[in-house]
Amino acid sequence: MRRRDHHRGRRGQRFTEVLLGVSSCFLRVLCDSVVKLGLVALLGLSLAAQTFIQMTDPQFGMYEKNLGFAHETDNFEFAIATANRLKPAFVVVTGDLVNQPGNAAQIAEYKRIAAKLDPQVRLFNVAGNHDVGNEPTKASLAAWREAFGPDYYSFRTGEITGIVLDSSLEKATQNVPEEAAKMETWLRSEFEKTRREGAKNVVVFQHISFFLKDPDEPDQYFNIPRETRQRYLKLLHEYGVKYVFAGHYHQNADGRDGDLEMVTTGPVGMPLGKAKSGMRIVKVTAEGVSQQFYDFGALP
Ligand SMILES: [Zn+2]
Repeated sequence: MRRRDHHRGRRGQRFTEVLLGVSSCFLRVLCDSVVKLGLVALLGLSLAAQTFIQMTDPQFGMYEKNLGFAHETDNFEFAIATANRLKPAFVVVTGDLVNQPGNAAQIAEYKRIAAKLDPQVRLFNVAGNHDVGNEPTKASLAAWREAFGPDYYSFRTGEITGIVLDSSLEKATQNVPEEAAKMETWLRSEFEKTRREGAKNVVVFQHISFFLKDPDEPDQYFNIPRETRQRYLKLLHEYGVKYVFAGHYHQNADGRDGDLEMVTTGPVGMPLGKAKSGMRIVKVTAEGVSQQFYDFGALP
């Protein structure tokens, strides 16, 4: 009797264990599903709010007038480490990667540090006047393309379509008028493509700002000559572009032309005036674009 009870007891215990096992398994599946659903919801949210970082003018060699670049190394290392911590969708470096066009040591140092960027964060390089020369030539453009790839191109990441332009082909075209014309034709056809594809957030990146504050401001070193500027701005308006991000000024500036915002960003490298080195963090959500420049000492 005792033994039987014992057996029955053990059988009962086993049954309970199986039951518990089944139910815990069921609970686990249920639990997993809930967790997965939660993750999908979170992922949905983070995809809706895409973030990118604009860095500009790391300009290796500027502090020491091409005799060294220790200061630029420190700043760019910190900028890339920060991007790895914040994990944006992409980093765009809007030109003047180096101070002296074609300087092999400066280019190698830029590339050495850029390669430390988390492979999940995409990197887009933009050509500046210090990269291709103040008056670009066929040779200087060829050298950039050899080292960094095309100087104008487009990319798509999530809900953002990025258009990268070579502003030196807007600013000083005397040596390469055919290259300048080619880029402008390409831009129009690229805009046509984004329109056909129903791209939502088309953002333009280039090195030199079309203008700093006022679309009608006089020509100067830090903007694009008025005639070319007006032609490009007309095209940008025609295709509903609302944001252009640039650098070159080595300090921040904000200008507006109707519903187009011209954002000029201070440098990762050497600042001018009262500016400080830093980077801009940009969030693109369904409600629009929000962006802020952070000094290196004030990063989130
Ligand atoms: Zn520049």
